[in-house]
Amino acid sequence: MAKNNRGKEVKKLPNQGRGECPSCHRTGVKLLYDVKIGDKTIKVCKVCKDIPADKITV
Ligand SMILES: [Zn+2]
Repeated sequence: MAKNNRGKEVKKLPNQGRGECPSCHRTGVKLLYDVKIGDKTIKVCKVCKDIPADKITV
């Protein structure tokens, strides 16, 4: 698998992949990981990617 979440790939993302994590509400973190919650997919930071989806409240 390609490293899609590193280096210049991240720079292509809107706001360079940074924003507020909907799970932990830290700002300026890179939101690189897709988590499926119900029928929608959200982006979370690396800290929250290991949290089970049902523990994440948006
Ligand atoms: Zn987070």
